[in-house]
Amino acid sequence: MNVTILGSAAAEGWPGLFCECATCREAKRLGGRNIRRRTAYCLDGNLLVDFGPDAYWQSIEFGIDLLKVDDILFTHSHADHLNPLELSWRRRGYSSVVRSLNVHGNAHVLARIRQETGTSDESLHLAMHEIRPGQTVPVGAWTVTALEAQHASPEEDALNYVLERDGKALLIGHDTGWWPDHTWELASRFRLDLAILECTYGVLNPEARSHHLGVAATVAFRDELRRRGVLKDSCRVVANHFSHNGGANHDALCAWFAPHGIEVGYDGMALEL
Ligand SMILES: [Zn+2]
Ligand SMILES: [Zn+2]
Ligand SMILES: [Zn+2]
Repeated sequence: MNVTILGSAAAEGWPGLFCECATCREAKRLGGRNIRRRTAYCLDGNLLVDFGPDAYWQSIEFGIDLLKVDDILFTHSHADHLNPLELSWRRRGYSSVVRSLNVHGNAHVLARIRQETGTSDESLHLAMHEIRPGQTVPVGAWTVTALEAQHASPEEDALNYVLERDGKALLIGHDTGWWPDHTWELASRFRLDLAILECTYGVLNPEARSHHLGVAATVAFRDELRRRGVLKDSCRVVANHFSHNGGANHDALCAWFAPHGIEVGYDGMALEL
């Protein structure tokens, strides 16, 4: 099983659209891993997590054949994770597609897709599946459990996901602050091989843990998972979903996290389970 990080930025990308801050100027000068598209993942070539405004560029850059994708799992409806317009190109006249695509998300995600594509699920060949916090459902070859994140409330239930397959398990944990108690309790049943956590606030707001996490809060989050026995000894922990407002470029983030044994995500990072 493999996971490819297709994007590693928060909402406005990095460098941020129209941003002139020193961190964005530096990213443009350095390039490489400092260029971050909006956060998304591809698992085994046929399952996507989120489909945001960089989906087209990501599919070309990282060789994702969208015709082989069976399922898209959405974390929440924020614009960096969901771009309904791109799904509308599945309709007749714009695409020759006849193959059904399963879309999984909270009620808010499904409503936005229906509203903004302006056409029926059938004409887009979409099969919509609502998923609620605490539910465990089959998604392709995976068993997926939705965890309630601490993010985007009260408008919607943003979701983190544990995906299990063939004795392996991974956590997709971006766009959350410090979990509510019931999420910690639910997560405690798992034994992870890979944990992808978030770090939107970076080094400039290290202890922040409301709706997103700073670097110190990301370490504390990992420590709490470990204290609860959720991480296998061999579990890799990767920080992802970074904002330029966090103030540290890729190498600086690596230097900060290295003593804590946490890897820093970047676009194109391939992770094997
Ligand atoms: Zn986000
Ligand atoms: Zn900036
Ligand atoms: Zn969000």
